[in-house]
Parts: sequence; structure tokens; C-alpha cells
Amino acid sequence: MTVAIRHDFRSDTITRPSPPMRNAMATAEVGDDVFGDDPTVNRLEITAANLFDKQAALFLPSGTQANLIALMSHCERGDEYIVGQKAHCYRWEAGGAAVLGSIQPQPLNNQADGTLLLADIEAAIKPDDSHFARTRLLALENTTGGKVLPSVYVAAATNLARRYGLACHLDGARVFNAAAMLGVSAASLAQPFDSVSVCLSKGLGAPIGSVLIGSTPFIAKARRLRKMLGGGMRQAGIIAAAGLYALEHNVARLSEDHANAAILAAGLAEFTELSVSAPDTNMVFVDVAPAIAVPFSAYLAAHGIGITSAYTATQQRWVIHLDVSRDAVEAALEVVRDFFSKG
Ligand SMILES: *Cc1c(COP(=O)(O)O)cnc(C)c1O
Repeated sequence: MTVAIRHDFRSDTITRPSPPMRNAMATAEVGDDVFGDDPTVNRLEITAANLFDKQAALFLPSGTQANLIALMSHCERGDEYIVGQKAHCYRWEAGGAAVLGSIQPQPLNNQADGTLLLADIEAAIKPDDSHFARTRLLALENTTGGKVLPSVYVAAATNLARRYGLACHLDGARVFNAAAMLGVSAASLAQPFDSVSVCLSKGLGAPIGSVLIGSTPFIAKARRLRKMLGGGMRQAGIIAAAGLYALEHNVARLSEDHANAAILAAGLAEFTELSVSAPDTNMVFVDVAPAIAVPFSAYLAAHGIGITSAYTATQQRWVIHLDVSRDAVEAALEVVRDFFSKG
């Protein structure tokens, strides 16, 4: 028997639009966005560009499409991008850049803190030689696996890329979480990059949508690619209104999610069978002693606690978001305590 999930820690993608967000959607002014006529989409794009202190932005249905279009805008056929093995835009996007863009990925191992070693990046940049793909782009991700990239590292990696003439893209699906953790603006985290993709539909709570942000010519190229990939949308103001609402109301509260993640991590860390890494942001990774991994996960599922497994069979990922409150964290910890007390 499967039990309905009562407290859903599977992902911050599961958030549902709140009544005021739905109201903003229902009352949004709309027009045909492919003609550039949708005032709400235009407002979202201007708002996003300003928030990130860049020239222009483009509204897209998904973060996957935003990354694909960014890669295709920076790279031509036969070019290459340097990227982490664990990066979303390498590992989790169905190989889109290779399939649809004829762009070769050059994946590098992620270190435990999510970074790519500068020496690995430098060694992977190919000289101008007809044997090689042309190395064009460095793609980083922040946050990555819930971790915030150190700003000193980002500066060093992007400076290195620039020295070799590479462009830099940030997969900033959760860049607002990184900004909240560091206490800096999202614009400052975007500053070293030519382009940034940002998800509105994760911790920010919109049902659909991402934005891609960059220079005016870059976004003009991206707009053409969006059309080519079937992403031109008509009265998209209905969904852009949710994204605008998210940017206006749900950014400042992300630190509450981080506080709840810290409480969850501390509660789980009380059990010697659970090895918990201290969360930077809204994700808690837990390595469960192999002997109990299966019954523990089954017990959580049977008690309505939704989680996913992460990088290994015995690793769990718990994600905090807008729709899991402090009370939900306490309720989940109660279930965990029950499991161990019944030992
Ligand atoms: C979720 C995610 C994406 C893709 O977003 P979708 O809207 O699910 O396509 C890209 N990058 C990262 C790091 C993500 O977590």
C-alpha cells in the first residue's frame, strides 16, 4: 500500500501557487508574446534584467530550455563547453546540447564542495588545432547540490576562462538561495558571468518558468533559438505573472527555508546511523547506515514523509521549500525519532 505524502521533502519543484499568486495570474494583462505584445512577460523580463544588473532577459518554460538555449547561444556546432560531471546542464538535460546543438561537453569531476579544480579547467581548454573541438564556454552552477560556490573561487575560475577567451554561463537555478546564504545580491553573483539562467518554479514557488539573463545581443540570439526550439509562447503573461509575483514576494523568505534545513539537519544528526552534512541552503543530504537504509526509507514513506535518494543508494536528499513549514520539519523529525526508538 502506498501512503499519500503529507510532508513533501522530495524537491523544491513541488511548490504550488499560493492564492495571491493565483490571483496575480488570473488578473494578468496579456498579449501575444511572440509579437512582443505581452505586457506582463515584458515586465518580468525587465524586472529580471534589472535584478541581475544585465541588459536583457528572456522568459522560458523551463530551466532545461534556458540552459540549452544559453549553451546554443554561446557555442556553435563543433564547439565545446567545460562543465561539471554532476552539473544539471551536462548530466540531467538528456544530452540536449549535444543532440540539438552539436555542442561537445567536456565534463570535469566536481570536487566535494561542487567546484571544478582550476588546474582541471586549464588542462581541458584545447589549443587552436584542427584536431580539437573549439573550447568556447565555462558553465558553472550555483547552488550546486545545495552548496554555495565560494565567491573567491568563482572569480578565479571565470578569470581563468576569460584569459583563454571563453565565455562564462551560470546555471543559477537556485542562485537566490546562494545570495540569501551569502547575504549578497543575486546581481553580484551574476556579475562574473555573461549569462545566467534562473528557475522561478523551484523555491520561489511559481508553477512554471525560468528566465535567461544576459546582454542585449545575447538575448536576441536566445530569442530566435527559443522560437526554433518550440518555446515561443503566446499569452504567456498568465504564467509570467506567477514569476513576477515570485520575484516580488518569495525571494526574501528563502532564508527561512535555510533555517528550517539547519533545524532538520541538526535533528537528523542526533542519530549515529545518519551521517548528515551541514546544509548551506535548502538541501540536506543524509548518508544512512547501509544496514537500515531500506527499512528507514520505507518507514518514512509509510508515514507520509516524501524524500528522494541522491547520489548513492544509501544517500537521501531532503529539500526544504515554501510548502514545508517549520511544523512539517518537526513532524518529520518525530517520525524519525519513532523509527529509531522502535529500533
Ligand atoms: C531544476 C534545475 C534545472 C532545470 O530546470 P527545469 O525547470 O526543471 O527544467 C537546471 N539546473 C539546475 C541546477 C536545476 O536544479
